[in-house]
Amino acid sequence: MESALTARDRVGVQDFVLLENHTSEAAFIENLRKRFKENLIYTYIGSVLVSVNPYKDLEIYTKNHMERYRGVNFYEVSPHIYAVSDNSYRSMRTERKDQCILISGESGAGKTEASKKILQYYAVTCPASDQVETVKDRLLQSNPVLEAFGNAKTLRNDNSSRFGKYMDIQFDFKGAPVGGHILNYLLEKSRVVHQNHGERNFHIFYQLIEGGEEDLLRRLGLERNPQQYQYLVKGNCPKVSSINDRSDWKVVRKALSVIGFNEDEVEDLLNIIASVLHLGNIQYGGEDSGNAYITTDTQIKYLARLLGVDGLVLKDALTHKKIIAKGEELKSPLNLEQAASARDALSKAVYGRTFTWLVNKINASLAYKTYKNASVIGLLDIYGFEVFQHNSFEQFCINYCNEKLQQLFIELTLKSEQDEYEAEGITWEPVQYFNNKIICDLVEEKFKGIISILDEECLRPGDASDITFLEKLENTVGGHAHLTTHKLADGKTRKVMGREEFRLLHYAGEVNYNVNGVLSCTHSLCVVHPQVMCMSENRILTQCFDRAELKDSKRPETAATQFKTSLAKLMEILMSKEPSYVRCIKPNDAKQAGRFDEVLIRHQVKYLGLMENLRVRRAGFAYRRHYETFLQRYKSLCPETWPSWQGKLADGVSTLVKHLGYKPEEYKLGRSKIFIRFPKTLFATEDALET
Ligand code: ATP
Ligand code: MG
Repeated sequence: MESALTARDRVGVQDFVLLENHTSEAAFIENLRKRFKENLIYTYIGSVLVSVNPYKDLEIYTKNHMERYRGVNFYEVSPHIYAVSDNSYRSMRTERKDQCILISGESGAGKTEASKKILQYYAVTCPASDQVETVKDRLLQSNPVLEAFGNAKTLRNDNSSRFGKYMDIQFDFKGAPVGGHILNYLLEKSRVVHQNHGERNFHIFYQLIEGGEEDLLRRLGLERNPQQYQYLVKGNCPKVSSINDRSDWKVVRKALSVIGFNEDEVEDLLNIIASVLHLGNIQYGGEDSGNAYITTDTQIKYLARLLGVDGLVLKDALTHKKIIAKGEELKSPLNLEQAASARDALSKAVYGRTFTWLVNKINASLAYKTYKNASVIGLLDIYGFEVFQHNSFEQFCINYCNEKLQQLFIELTLKSEQDEYEAEGITWEPVQYFNNKIICDLVEEKFKGIISILDEECLRPGDASDITFLEKLENTVGGHAHLTTHKLADGKTRKVMGREEFRLLHYAGEVNYNVNGVLSCTHSLCVVHPQVMCMSENRILTQCFDRAELKDSKRPETAATQFKTSLAKLMEILMSKEPSYVRCIKPNDAKQAGRFDEVLIRHQVKYLGLMENLRVRRAGFAYRRHYETFLQRYKSLCPETWPSWQGKLADGVSTLVKHLGYKPEEYKLGRSKIFIRFPKTLFATEDALET
């Protein structure tokens, strides 16, 4: 038989805390590699789960596995996503505190798969009743629907989520899942009109074209060939070997009905999807400098019917700009370029708002009506830190979001851990860590943060442009330690090698952001589109484009500010819960099983802040309990504390743990809590309870 020592040599340690040289990144990565080779994709850092995408199906998600993790202490079984799921569930049940599981990692690292595994775990292991079965089904079926409309094939992931998602799962007093609620963030709308080489548009377009029934396609005026559609040919990648659009179509259709969409709603929804494809095929004639006119009348005919709008009005909207100034309507014709971008803006707006409608509709179907006091476990599956050759407004938002999540991590774990030791009067060595609040402030501070400056330029009439934004940035926060604008020696132009960018020094590294198009990207929709869309007879669009917004004379919110506000709300939600973390790592860029690309992995270990995480964890105590709770739970184990302890709580706990044989280095007594250094100490005590 293999000795324990050689086993550890072969498969590494299952908690990085047990690494002999815990400050060595090389040792960290070596441990990951050993485990990955043995198909052990999960490893802990204390209670944080690190997961490496195996890129192959492992036999570790069976019902048997679920049973193995049910109600079992974290450290008694090998690391698993089910252990995290179960731990959160039990904390929610026993401590009555809402939980959240934050899943992070870069594209393709396995975040969405992890969140699905968690949901499946609850669906299978939680108690149920008849009503609960429907809720469980709906919770599970919301995934294929949202993925059809919000995921796409990218270079890095064949099923890449192009939106951020936070989902609450609500449980009743018996611990049965009874409802849910989804918040979505920043759908990548630009994908509707453009895809990079080797990438696709959102799955639903191909599913409809490949899988839609003959008469359905006829009704929608669609041909069964994605190459016919301008919005589907940009990436030159209609087929993906790992994806079966036709069978996915069936899955999505079924899911829609499980969630409770009726036939009319499905029809309206598909009319919109088809409309976007027709919109993309609208072509214009006219001189470059002259007025554009539409040359493709067939598309207008279909669009008029599918959207339920007047064809002439639609044509007008696609070739003219209308501005309401001081109550008066001003209309002016568009040139070729402007008209094409007006068309694309309409497509993006229609698709984006329909997606939001879809989320609302799913929420209505998951809404938990009967009980008020549900306990909650939230799942956050959101894009990781992104650095490309060319980074735009979208990457800026994504990385800002990660900056906020890092801040939350600091607040909830690092800082609160140290604060607590201090408050409890426990002596220990404080761990140095970088607090990224300074970067969050740089982005979001009122008046002088980057978003404020962007807003100002967006809403300023006159000569505001991407470059004036960059100039203002330079003048306002140019001296900031985490920001560089590219300024030439003469101080006049910010063009560097033809690039117009600013550089942010994020907690995870440096990123250059290009400002081209940033102003138009954050502007809200030009007024003419809501006007046409409000007239639509499509029942979904009438809900998406509200007449009231036309009359609203308030300063419109820019996309950047909207994002900032929604992030702030998310942080508030997460702050009110007890967090668990799943950190996902992508082993290689080739989407291949068995390949462990060390350079790529080292980057991710850095971005995810895993070494720092480990450092803090090693310095701290694994468990802490209020004296009262501790005594209440374990008083039966000691004759002096049973049936009740009359003196000071601290003395009671002290008597109890001495009786239990705790060694001095295993615990410390603070002002109101006992701190236990190693999990195994507490496990032994728990075990004693059962015997
Ligand atoms: P994105 O940010 O692009 O949405 P992601 O982190 O959500 O990426 P996933 O879609 O979860 O990545 O995973 C990408 C692919 O990796 C999956 O489609 C699947 O093929 C594979 N994969 C991920 N996790 C696992 C796992 N636990 N077991 C087997 N395969 C997995
Ligand atoms: Mg995903």
